[in-house]
Amino acid sequence: MAELEQRGDRTPIPAAWEYASAPESREIVKLEERYGLFIGGEFVEPRSGEHYKTLDPSSEEPLAEIPQAGPEDVALAVGTARKAFSDGWSAASPAERAKYLFRIARILQERSREFAVLESLNGGKPIRESRDVDVPLAAAHFFYYAGWADKLEYAFPHRRQQPLGVAGQIIPWNFPLLMLAWKIAPALAAGNTVVLKPAETTPLSALLFCDVLRQAELPPGVVNIVTGDGATGAALVKSEVDKIAFTGSTEVGKAIQRELAGTGKKLTLELGGKAANIIFDDCALDQAVEGIVNGIYFNQGHVCCAGSRLLVQESIYEPLLEKLKRRLTTLRVGDPLDKNTDVGAINSRQQLDKIEELVAAGEEEGAEIYQPPCRLPEKGYWFAPTVFTNVAQSYRIAQEEIFGPVLSVLTFRTPDEAVEKANNTPYGLSAGVWTEKGSRILWMAQRLEAGVIWANTYNRFDPASPFGGYKESGFGREGGLHGLEPYLDFREDSADVIGG
Ligand code: NAP
Ligand code: MG
Repeated sequence: MAELEQRGDRTPIPAAWEYASAPESREIVKLEERYGLFIGGEFVEPRSGEHYKTLDPSSEEPLAEIPQAGPEDVALAVGTARKAFSDGWSAASPAERAKYLFRIARILQERSREFAVLESLNGGKPIRESRDVDVPLAAAHFFYYAGWADKLEYAFPHRRQQPLGVAGQIIPWNFPLLMLAWKIAPALAAGNTVVLKPAETTPLSALLFCDVLRQAELPPGVVNIVTGDGATGAALVKSEVDKIAFTGSTEVGKAIQRELAGTGKKLTLELGGKAANIIFDDCALDQAVEGIVNGIYFNQGHVCCAGSRLLVQESIYEPLLEKLKRRLTTLRVGDPLDKNTDVGAINSRQQLDKIEELVAAGEEEGAEIYQPPCRLPEKGYWFAPTVFTNVAQSYRIAQEEIFGPVLSVLTFRTPDEAVEKANNTPYGLSAGVWTEKGSRILWMAQRLEAGVIWANTYNRFDPASPFGGYKESGFGREGGLHGLEPYLDFREDSADVIGG
């Protein structure tokens, strides 16, 4: 029973309002002790003979043993995908391909709770997010691309299109199932087969997805999953695939581009970001505070499009910062499986080290740090929500991607200055604009160098809307019709061209 506070002659009230814990049950997820590589519709032992342990980052508890695929395993997976492509998948009727995509979408929905628990267990993200964002959006991508599979000729009129062959796909650990859906759904809709490598630290939802593929009776070999670390990714890049689709860091993206130069293999790169979230003095301040919090603390800031640089108009700097700091004291950091948790665990020791290093650099360079009082669990990888003020544009925390729950606050006076500061980065993935004026939103959107610009909201996603970057944030788009194009070869159909 909570302690009661006497309030004169009025009814006593609890001295503090605490949330009782509301953990989601782990029981719904059945883990294997050891997994195989998913090749040709079967789990097979890796020829490399090597395995590693994947962890729960909130407790450092080992969850399962995962194969570390070597070049021989990757070659086998690619050969299997090639055979599945020529033995039927590329010639299957488009409606047939759509059927499987619809089935996958439906099964993901039916098994959504299992996937949500597993995603939070292996990745550290709050169950509220995996349940309400990751899993539903993953299913939505399969539904969306299922709809296009038999309408490609209308999607790209007067252009005769054909699939590329085998797509090699490499994804990061921040949205494991969602990134898998972004990659696999358009590739299959366009008639390709796939070899996908999940991130080293978060392979479990991709391995559970193999079970969904079997349940959907997808022909064996159309989708193959090879687990392992960066070396496995590098082997996939070097293998006999027709295209590489990569989401990850700019550094690795550059290395892949160098490797593929001159090979004729197609490439799309979805890389890092350092987005500006720009707050004008005429905006709805309380809504903006929610948007700032969502922009940088969602998924512990492990978000490529996170609003990690806050640009505040000088005239509202003080009230905004006061509101923001007050809001931060209400964020609950802790058990990812607790339905009340707002901020979960950092994905890995390596990522925590990187965040700690950049935060130390921020303090050393002279920025002022604020963290709300919060108790972090003793085991596992944790970092408190952090705000830096007094930040200069040259500081590392204003230039480099931290990929953690750390916000750097800068100020501006005029819209021109906001644009100049927002574009002062090698990246160009996303931006946010908060203002009451529609004309100002459009004016800003024309000048900001970013693939996605949100107005009076942040981190909104829809499968129909293309997503991707400018500059060092990469090239190519995922989502929408734009997301199909990189999985197709086009020949102009001269007979169909009007007057042709
Ligand atoms: P990363 O190190 O580049 O890893 C991404 C993927 O590439 C992982 O599967 C990784 O395996 C693999 N990999 C590592 N080295 C490789 C190599 N030499 N050749 C081929 N593959 C290799 O990135 P991360 O640290 O996992 O993810 C965070 C980064 O991804 C951030 O920079 C973030 O901005 C970016 N990101 C971008 C988007 C977007 O849509 N633009 C979305 C999400 C994340 P390991 O697991 O072993 O490292
Ligand atoms: Mg990595």
